[in-house]
Amino acid sequence: MKSIDKLLYYMFFCHRIPERSFFYKGKQFPICARCTGILIGYLFGIIYIIFSEKPHLLIEILLIMPLAIDGIGQFYTYWTSNNIRRLITGIFAGIATIGFLRTAIVLGLNTGRYIFKLITM
Ligand SMILES: [Zn+2]
Repeated sequence: MKSIDKLLYYMFFCHRIPERSFFYKGKQFPICARCTGILIGYLFGIIYIIFSEKPHLLIEILLIMPLAIDGIGQFYTYWTSNNIRRLITGIFAGIATIGFLRTAIVLGLNTGRYIFKLITM
């Protein structure tokens, strides 16, 4: 296993099921279609937090809902998802994950400042 494959494996702990993965020139991607989408979403998420001034928790919840709905629907066998749907819902979830991370950091910093003020007053 190449080092980039190992990194992606340990980053996502992906199942790597061939039917749920993309192939390029006959070689399977190191992560499945959904994890590929999440990885792409992380990159878009970084752009998203650079250009949005403050956290938008509602938008981030809405962005993660398609993945949750697709995953739950597939789990209860209401439908079988396809790789394009997995990729797109993964991209949205990746953006939301970066947004949630920013929200957690902002909340942590604000709480820290509040506690610091209480202690130093
Ligand atoms: Zn995966």
